[in-house]
Amino acid sequence: MKRFGRLLFCFCLTIAFGGIIVNAQDFHSYANPAAVRVRHVDLDWNVLFQQKILKGTATLTIDRISPSEPLVLDTRDLKIDQVETSVDGTRFQAGTFTLGAADKILGAPLTIQLPAKATRVRIHYSTSPGASGLQWLEPAQTAGKKDPFVYTQSEAIHARSWIPLQDTPSVRVTYSARVRTPRNLLAVMSAENLSGTVRDGDYSFRMRQPIPSYLIALAVGDLRFRALGPRTGVYAEPSTLALAARELSDTEKMVVATERLYGPYRWGRYDILVLPPSFPYGGMENPRLTFATPTILAGDKSLVSLVAHELAHSWSGNLVTNATWRDFWLNEGFTTYLERRILEAVYGRSREEMEAALGLRDLNDEIASLPDADEILHIDLKGRDPDDGSTDIPYEKGALFLRHLEQTFGRARFDQFLKSYFNHFSFQSITTEQFQAYLKQNLLDKYPDLASKVPVDEWINQPGVPASAPKPTSQAFAQVETEASRWLSNQIPAARIPTARWSTQEWQHFLTFVQNSFEPPASGGAAGTQLSQTEKARLMSELDRAFNLTRSGNSEIVFQWLVMSIRNQYEPANARLEEFLMTVGRRKFIRPLYQELAKTPAGKEKALAIYRRARPTYHPIAVTSIDDVLKWSGE
Ligand SMILES: [Zn+2]
Repeated sequence: MKRFGRLLFCFCLTIAFGGIIVNAQDFHSYANPAAVRVRHVDLDWNVLFQQKILKGTATLTIDRISPSEPLVLDTRDLKIDQVETSVDGTRFQAGTFTLGAADKILGAPLTIQLPAKATRVRIHYSTSPGASGLQWLEPAQTAGKKDPFVYTQSEAIHARSWIPLQDTPSVRVTYSARVRTPRNLLAVMSAENLSGTVRDGDYSFRMRQPIPSYLIALAVGDLRFRALGPRTGVYAEPSTLALAARELSDTEKMVVATERLYGPYRWGRYDILVLPPSFPYGGMENPRLTFATPTILAGDKSLVSLVAHELAHSWSGNLVTNATWRDFWLNEGFTTYLERRILEAVYGRSREEMEAALGLRDLNDEIASLPDADEILHIDLKGRDPDDGSTDIPYEKGALFLRHLEQTFGRARFDQFLKSYFNHFSFQSITTEQFQAYLKQNLLDKYPDLASKVPVDEWINQPGVPASAPKPTSQAFAQVETEASRWLSNQIPAARIPTARWSTQEWQHFLTFVQNSFEPPASGGAAGTQLSQTEKARLMSELDRAFNLTRSGNSEIVFQWLVMSIRNQYEPANARLEEFLMTVGRRKFIRPLYQELAKTPAGKEKALAIYRRARPTYHPIAVTSIDDVLKWSGE
């Protein structure tokens, strides 16, 4: 855990809400939006692949609430060349600024003195090659291997490493951008594309709806586009495009299903950008253009829950946004709940049950390993990197809380409540307290008898989950357990387990069940099963022969198989483990694999040997995590 050694400047943002005054302290921004508030950003860059920098200007349009106050912006590793201010909005003159000392987590505050009546500020700057929000890929790191690629990842507080701005989700801005690139490459952004897909190295964008800074996004590479529906489509490198279009062909259906549940999609187009494999996350809900990992392209649509998740953010997160990072569960818990409702609408109840049961498994594993304070939805992240709060708690505990509300109040009432919540707070950033007040007024107080069955305060402010929490189960998983038990008790060989129609989720459950039965009862294994190392190796190799798991092209299945292989010292998977870690950069997969390896001295040695070569190909966000896991000393 990273902590600051000193007290930080922070700003107390006061929001008037239905007569209640809510204090939202964003400990992760130097900005002073209650005194000067940025409302529009005009960006103009040259994308310089040789130097691995963006160079250009950011012109901010501001509202002066306390006219004597300077403008304070967030920056990280930016080189500020010059600052100008303008009173009439068009003529600019040189201004004065100071760049404060850099904090390891927050970066450095940029303070700009404002002449009376100045309404625009222009900053001439360039990024640094190591900017935490940018990843520059060599041609060899792309699918096509011919051209370089760059993409951004701004959430949580990485926008400040490529744009000087008020980098707090409590401030929403509209933006425009002009991006110059090498002529053969295409630039895309989380905005309306004003240049179409004609490749000329000069692209213009406009985002007319106010969004928080962490949703500003850019990617440049050898990208092609294919339409999926009237307002949906996919961008990918040429060699990935056909596979991506097939796999994501239900996207339009998902948009329609979500609109039916929660009201109109408000962002115009919904496109998906499939990135090269080093992308550290599964997906990022950049408005109008979800960024996605290629590891969801399983060939059978079994991993498109990711699209349902990122699409759901168009309501929970992008439309109604967490005001600070301690309210992150308002983004992710709601989105995880919505994701499963979308999957149910498009693929049926059984799929929803499987996903919810897997979610509960992940939540229980997470709770077993986290300190109490980190199990609280309304988490205290003061003095910590907000990326530390990105555990299963905001996602799965948040979703389980909403499931509890749905089951208690009934689906019809709860759906109505959510729809009105999204309408009421649309294009606003809100705190947990604001959600709680709205919940009380619009659901709890209307049905006091039902309300008494949901311990809302315990859900939001206490560790663990309440005893009355729902326990999602899956019929399909019960069947999988029966089959697995028959195999484990030698009634049938592995090859006769009826897996032909299994989904990825059933495979995940099967492998978890098998691993649990390998482990001593104390850690949750099936009672009475104590297998020798030799016996485990025999069973692993029987499974591998029957189902070729080591060579599985499904990222979720092969990931879980590799975790099992490390735990059970299944040597034939070693080469695949190395290949996986060398080619995939998704943190959800690589962090647990390195953690698992690091549990034994020999494993740690192997991990370091792989990491030494893989590290330069990983995204800075993944590097920070893995450095921590392996106590990397910077050799
Ligand atoms: Zn999310």
